[in-house]
Amino acid sequence: MLCDTRLLLNMAKDRGVCAFNIYNFEILKAIVDVAEELLIPVIIQVSEGGLEYGGGLSLVNLVKTHLKGTKAPYALHLDHGRDIDVIRSAIKWGFTSIMVDGSHLPFEENLKFTQMVVDIAHRAGIPVEAELGTIGGTEDKITGDMHLVDPAEAEIFVSKTGVDFLAPAVGTSHGAFKFKGKQEIRFDLIEEVSKRTGVPLVLHGASSLPGWLLDEAKRSGVDVEGMNGVPYEVLKEAVRRGIRKLNADTDLRIAFITGLRNSLIENPGVIDPRKHLNRGMEWIKRIVRERMEILWNP
Ligand SMILES: [Zn+2]
Repeated sequence: MLCDTRLLLNMAKDRGVCAFNIYNFEILKAIVDVAEELLIPVIIQVSEGGLEYGGGLSLVNLVKTHLKGTKAPYALHLDHGRDIDVIRSAIKWGFTSIMVDGSHLPFEENLKFTQMVVDIAHRAGIPVEAELGTIGGTEDKITGDMHLVDPAEAEIFVSKTGVDFLAPAVGTSHGAFKFKGKQEIRFDLIEEVSKRTGVPLVLHGASSLPGWLLDEAKRSGVDVEGMNGVPYEVLKEAVRRGIRKLNADTDLRIAFITGLRNSLIENPGVIDPRKHLNRGMEWIKRIVRERMEILWNP
């Protein structure tokens, strides 16, 4: 059942809600299959690039239709909205929350842009997530260097904009190469931003790339050299400090590709794409189930 994103994050209290990026039916179906089995809240999110790939409103209608009659609580969230026309469309199309990403702008401009979007979204009753500091790395159209959040700025930003959720840059990054050396997440920043702002916090770039997944990916021929993620124990500590929504896209990409490669290699004579896609979905289910169980249970 599609719900207000605020409701999901409030339900979480001291737990973590998984947010997964989708852009096609296969990934959506795999996530929903798992959520219906576990009956745990999950956020389905689509980036601007994902909307473009999935045919915009066609993808949104697919999500809404597929969620009819489901039992677990779902939210539909626009990830990294930078284009005001896309943001307006998302509000009109029935997204239950949107992210405005003005993190590439100087603080004052980010504040103004975010204020404008909050104004539009709140008039439609839709909650807003914003980003402060810059989460580094590359994902879809978003790329950049990392700049950590300043908690004093975060307090001003949230009170002036009225955003409902905040994604502070605390050391994670987008993509499959998250840390050059030792992973460093600034738990102290999470805790301070949480205390000062009082809003649910969002962790971007929160894929874990667990060892078993990287091993299997490597076995199937994926070049995983240098890829790394944020271990589950680190994510759980982040949840204890105030993170409520944990974004993951890379984990699902690696799982999907691993399943597809395995099937394609094992079954060279099979020309029914559904056989291969089913294997990709099986692998997505594995990682989605693992993340949802681990992060929802404190
Ligand atoms: Zn992100």
